Amino acid sequence: MSYISDQLRQLVRERAINCCEYCRLHQDYHPFTYEVDHILPEKHRGETIEDNLCLTCFECNRFKGSDIGSFDIGTRTFAPLFNPRSMDWSEHFALEGTLIVSLTAIGRVTEFLLRLNNEHRLKARAELVSLGRYPCGPSRL
Ligand SMILES: [Zn+2]
Repeated sequence: MSYISDQLRQLVRERAINCCEYCRLHQDYHPFTYEVDHILPEKHRGETIEDNLCLTCFECNRFKGSDIGSFDIGTRTFAPLFNPRSMDWSEHFALEGTLIVSLTAIGRVTEFLLRLNNEHRLKARAELVSLGRYPCGPSRL
């Protein structure tokens, strides 16, 4: 695993406004410090550069691991994971209350692999939605 400088980590954190770039939960509402993730994992020749890094919560990062995509049940083909640097969140996902609804094959495989709507996550989101504190993220989300 490559060294990520404090400066680069800070840039990624500030760019994401302390928001998980996959599930859109703010760092303030999560017990573990968010991590800097290689969007294209190093295992697949992903570089440690600004354009290949994003901020993720513990769950998104663990469930993603070194995956780069999966078989999409809708199109019955391989689809890549959502890329927070080159794609718009709202093009691939929508919110229906606490549920993250997938709009595309990319959205479906990301929701599936990262388990964006598992019971634990839905419960965590429910209170934040009622308080108007979910979702978070840069305006382009
Ligand atoms: Zn997340």
